[in-house]
Amino acid sequence: MNNLSHFHKKLLDWYDINHRILPWRETNDPYKIWISEIILQQTRVAQGHDYYLRFINRFPDIASLAEADEAEVLRLWQGLGYYSRARNLHAAAQQIMSEHNGIFPDNHAAVRSLRGIGDYTAAAICSFAYNQPYAVLDGNVYRVVSRLFDEETVMDTPAGKRLFHTLADEILNTHEPAQHNQAMIEFGALYCTPTNPDCVNCPLQTYCQAFAHGTVHLLPVRKPIAALKDRYLNYIVYLSAKGETLLHRREKQDIWKHLYEFPLHESDHLFTQAELTPYLPAGAHLQGEKTLKHILSHQRLHARFFFVQSPELPTTNQLPAADYIRISLQALDDYALSRLTLRALEGIIMA
Ligand code: SF4
Repeated sequence: MNNLSHFHKKLLDWYDINHRILPWRETNDPYKIWISEIILQQTRVAQGHDYYLRFINRFPDIASLAEADEAEVLRLWQGLGYYSRARNLHAAAQQIMSEHNGIFPDNHAAVRSLRGIGDYTAAAICSFAYNQPYAVLDGNVYRVVSRLFDEETVMDTPAGKRLFHTLADEILNTHEPAQHNQAMIEFGALYCTPTNPDCVNCPLQTYCQAFAHGTVHLLPVRKPIAALKDRYLNYIVYLSAKGETLLHRREKQDIWKHLYEFPLHESDHLFTQAELTPYLPAGAHLQGEKTLKHILSHQRLHARFFFVQSPELPTTNQLPAADYIRISLQALDDYALSRLTLRALEGIIMA
């Protein structure tokens, strides 16, 4: 790109006037930047903002997070999805305590070796916390770079990622890498948007090859989305006369590991009421049911929740697994539940 310093100035001028005030931008504490970056993966800024504040309030530093119970970390994460992020945060905090004497590392290789930290997050922490010259590429930056260079290589392949990293490094402002990276992310998020960006008034227009060639609407190029796998989940929410219910902690390498859920019968279809009969204790009756669809990154979940009133909780042979815990309904709030389960419980009064 010609006249790179002028491009940097135009970008930073735009950023100075237009950027949003966000709490993680007001700090150079690597711990807080790390937490914000992990929360913002797969999460919109508006939703992530409150989670960030709650998380930092409860775990203000590495030591407090490392010492916490994993269940509490998951409970705080509840509703954000992609729970491996929370488990990895917790494990990495313990790793920093044991391998780095509780001090967040300041070199890229050490940051990258922490649990759950990939190329993007390592670059973001090193750039934003330590002002080191690493280009940070989130989805917004990929889009801006693809358009500036009119680059039609598929971005989400290993070769595509390497190429886009090279291009982003080429235009990195090595004097002010932190500001530059924030500006690129914000410019993609607010101005160079996926559809109908205001190219005519764009401050970077003279540098934009896609604008010159009329290809803005075609970029960036992504891999076709893989077909979603369908799963059918039949949950039975038992409520005994004593106001108790049953929960199970998911342990398998699957979605929602270490979250709690009601007794689940996974099948190739959603159960009818008649199919519930083998799982009902004597004297039980169906109080209601709720059918929900829930989309995860690679799966489409079809779920039916049956709410069952019963004098007693079911016996072990009526349950899909052995290791259930019996809790009072009031205690439900103490357990981390999936977003799907929370949706099922919305507006339900079990009495
Ligand atoms: Fe993005 Fe349009 Fe500006 Fe190019 S001219 S950088 S496509 S907003």
